[in-house]
Amino acid sequence: MNTTISILQKNLASIQQQISDACQRSGRTPEDVQIIAVTKYADWSWVQDLSQLHNVFGENRPQQLAERQVLLPQIHWHLIGQLQRNKVRLTLHHAAMIHSVDSLRLLEAICAAAAAADQESTPPSILLQVNMSGEASKSGFAPAELPAIWPDVLRLCCGLRLCGLMTMAAESDTPESARPTFQGLRLLRDSLQNRDDTRDAGITLTELSMGMSGDFVPAVEEGATLVRIGSRLFEGLQTPH
Ligand SMILES: *Cc1c(COP(=O)(O)O)cnc(C)c1O
Repeated sequence: MNTTISILQKNLASIQQQISDACQRSGRTPEDVQIIAVTKYADWSWVQDLSQLHNVFGENRPQQLAERQVLLPQIHWHLIGQLQRNKVRLTLHHAAMIHSVDSLRLLEAICAAAAAADQESTPPSILLQVNMSGEASKSGFAPAELPAIWPDVLRLCCGLRLCGLMTMAAESDTPESARPTFQGLRLLRDSLQNRDDTRDAGITLTELSMGMSGDFVPAVEEGATLVRIGSRLFEGLQTPH
């Protein structure tokens, strides 16, 4: 086994251990938490090695996702970064899930593109990105706005699989300070799920995409089902020359 694979294996195992400890503390099942390996800064050789150990990867940019998906089609590729409407069709061809649907206009564009795509292609799974921290630098729906526009969301996501919410916590030095953000996303999900119109539409918001390298432990304790982990996974690897 080459050294890159053994380092990746060790990193993955230690992340999985922390996830299972967090599940134990919060009465959850580790199988309900999926690691999205964020490969946006990873060297291609690392990505190839990682594909022997793991099969769900996340990319920030539609173009890089598309290029890498063609080379590793057995991997489930998730788009986690901002999506421009002119990249929607490209993304639908290559992504299994889009975490970053951050406006009604984008949702509408995805809906239209999915309807125009051939019948055989599976409808994409989508998450709505919520800007819980309210920072101007972050995109996403405002948590207070979402209940008001929910009927529009339901109307626009026909034919798509709306399966949950995503957020990014504000940067900070301590993982603990992100906890209220994660708690808030879970409560927002619960209140949207409990609406009659959500149930009538047959929608189940099972997924909560929250937590990154620095704060995935409180995210799992607060109910994350998808954790997006980049730097921590590639720790200890040297960029090849
Ligand atoms: C880069 C990125 C991550 C992973 O960040 P790390 O701190 O490297 O784990 C997660 N989510 C999004 C949206 C990102 O852009």
